[in-house]
Amino acid sequence: MQTTSTKDTKNSIAAAKNSKYHVNERGYYGKFGGAYIPEMLYPNVEELRQNYLEIIGEAAFQEEFHSLLKDYVGRPSPLYFAQRLSEHYHTNIYLKREDLNHTGAHKVNNTLGQILLAKRLGKQKIIAETGAGQHGVATATVCALMGMDCIVYMGAVDIERQKPNVERMKLLGAKVVAATSGSQTLKDATNEAMRHWINNPTDTHYIIGSVVGPHPYPDMVARFQSVISAEMKWQLKEKTGNENPDYILACVGGGSNAMGAFYHYLEAENVKLIAVEAAGLGLYSGETAATTQLGKSGILHGSKTLLMQTKDGQVVEPYSISAGLDYPGIGPVHAHLYDTTRATFYSATDEEALKAGQFLSRLEGIIPALETAHAFAALEKMTFETNDVVVMTVSGRGDKDLQTYIDRGMAG
Ligand SMILES: *Cc1c(COP(=O)(O)O)cnc(C)c1O
Repeated sequence: MQTTSTKDTKNSIAAAKNSKYHVNERGYYGKFGGAYIPEMLYPNVEELRQNYLEIIGEAAFQEEFHSLLKDYVGRPSPLYFAQRLSEHYHTNIYLKREDLNHTGAHKVNNTLGQILLAKRLGKQKIIAETGAGQHGVATATVCALMGMDCIVYMGAVDIERQKPNVERMKLLGAKVVAATSGSQTLKDATNEAMRHWINNPTDTHYIIGSVVGPHPYPDMVARFQSVISAEMKWQLKEKTGNENPDYILACVGGGSNAMGAFYHYLEAENVKLIAVEAAGLGLYSGETAATTQLGKSGILHGSKTLLMQTKDGQVVEPYSISAGLDYPGIGPVHAHLYDTTRATFYSATDEEALKAGQFLSRLEGIIPALETAHAFAALEKMTFETNDVVVMTVSGRGDKDLQTYIDRGMAG
């Protein structure tokens, strides 16, 4: 069982995917996606597009990637039957424990894949942008592992707000550069990273942290994260006799942990896919990040997708208590899953997420990241049959959010 399963996992990240839910040859998911980039970025993105599938399909690449996922990241991550949570919701809930990965979240699956790809493209330097610092830490980690130079762009405001992660990146040997233009947050850091890449096209790879950005990034990141659903299949088969659950739930910022969990189930239409966005202070409060509910089609971060914007097309500053969901757009694949109704989108407010995080902590002894807690808040809005099988992605652990839980009265 174990050996064939591992083999399946290996083959699946590079396999051709032709369903209407996967990216097409032109880099689109339905009407979303593409590569809307400045002329000067074209050679870099094109180099990636022409090579990524071939490289990740190579036996030596698969070998190195999967051996590091196993021994460095600690995969496979457990699929845990949450007995007390299941009893509470009168159904069968399994938790996919990405919080137990090295660095405490799913992000490292992608940064590891991309740095191995960058090495094979002959790059010596890595750049990344980060908002909350989680993707920056995951990038700095794999750069240390591979002995590569690492520059992380971060808004000056975010550097102030996310001190511990800035210190972590520095301890890992990365250089953190402040973006001081505009609102001095994530989108400004992204602009700086793009500018750096334009100026250093030959020796540098830009590691994007979610299923966002110009084609081929969304597909590439989805493939690296698809290890989550590849494992879920054999783990569910072992535990329930059926590799398909009835529901899969995940929180969505850009959408990479959700995409990893959905990937191998996209064509299994009887598996209901549930994505949960952050509603911040409330869907209509003006302080929110619930992109599919409020967004309109536009161009963000190099792709056509749904994003929150004003009447004249200015990007609206998003808000969520969880920094990882605090993004004005969503990956183009999720815009397509929303558009086709293949996935159902819910949203949860700060308050609902905090309560759900506290509830999971006390019921199962698992303190989730505030991002993750949004997915658990959606359980309150759904109804299940007693024999349903529900898989929840625990995208990250809550240590980083401890102070927020305390400040909001959840530890009392
Ligand atoms: C970054 C992050 C997210 C949001 O990113 P996605 O690309 O939507 O997965 C969710 N959970 C945790 C723990 C994160 O660090």
